[in-house]
Amino acid sequence: RSLTAVEAEGDERAVEAALRPRSLDEVVGQVRVRDQLGLVLEAARQRGKAPDHVLLSGPPGLGKTTLAMIIAHEMSTPLRLTSGPAITHAGDLAAILSGLNEGEVLFVDEIHRMSRPAEEMLYLAMEDFRVDVVIGKGPGATAIPLEIPPFTLVGATTRAGLLPGPLRDRFGFTAHLEFYEPADLDRIIRRSAGLLEVDLTDDGSAEIASRSRGTPRIANRLLRRVRDYAQVRADGVVTRGVSQAALDLYEVDQLGLDRLDRAVLDVLCNRFGGGPVGVSTLAVAVGEERETVEEVAEPFLVRNGFLARTPRGRVATPAAWAHLGLTAPPPEPE
Ligand code: ADP
Repeated sequence: RSLTAVEAEGDERAVEAALRPRSLDEVVGQVRVRDQLGLVLEAARQRGKAPDHVLLSGPPGLGKTTLAMIIAHEMSTPLRLTSGPAITHAGDLAAILSGLNEGEVLFVDEIHRMSRPAEEMLYLAMEDFRVDVVIGKGPGATAIPLEIPPFTLVGATTRAGLLPGPLRDRFGFTAHLEFYEPADLDRIIRRSAGLLEVDLTDDGSAEIASRSRGTPRIANRLLRRVRDYAQVRADGVVTRGVSQAALDLYEVDQLGLDRLDRAVLDVLCNRFGGGPVGVSTLAVAVGEERETVEEVAEPFLVRNGFLARTPRGRVATPAAWAHLGLTAPPPEPE
């Protein structure tokens, strides 16, 4: 099927999959991670062994799943996909591990959300390629050791700090993905526009790039929304003006803040006087899960200097007040 056919079906995930780079060479940006990972894979290939376990951390949409797929692709081996929340019992993990073939790549997304017993089983599997399957309950229970073929675990997490130390230590290579620079997002948007056959001007692409929250997934999504707008309300060409009008319509502001980002800053300034306030309180105030505020909105706001984490809670910076068009209260006397 052509990409246009995939798109016509409106399956967001299928389109996302079609836009994924397939090899390390196609990956835009993240130069250091790409170089380091390239070396790890090349060395493993030369030795004819499965590469060390890889941990990828960073906010959603920065390319963790893409890199996992590329690792499997570069090692010419199948990729098995699962996620932390899907592994509720150690038995679930035992079943997955025992089904692996030698050298395969197992991708565990949101690995920090795995159950504790499964996590402990994973330690042993990562280190000794063995699991202990417990049969029966109570005093009669016996542990049967089960050999598993050498494999490569690729774990993804929004924050490496969420993983228990013993688990983190068992990864031979850890990479933290950073938000992308506008120039990289610009390249990603143009590449996607080529694949999706979108007519895009240079400044149209730059405009979308600057409003994409440093995130490739968002860049690709915004490109498609702007293209809709260009098609329906303009002559089909994505220019700067079309991008601006479309993104204003979708409530993505000039600095790329979306509704949730602005809601967080808004309650922080207007309801809590700029903080400090705890992240749980903030989450309740904006009607979102704490994880969403902490792992999606906050990293971007911190990175862009709108929000600061302090021991007493989250604080709005002068830039946050200015962005909302408000005047910051005078600092409290010491
Ligand atoms: P994550 O697993 O971190 O949430 P994904 O790997 O699913 O993110 O990436 C989301 C989308 O962004 C994918 O469709 C992919 O096409 C695109 N993408 C991510 N990283 C890159 C990159 N470095 N270069 C080009 N496209 C990328």
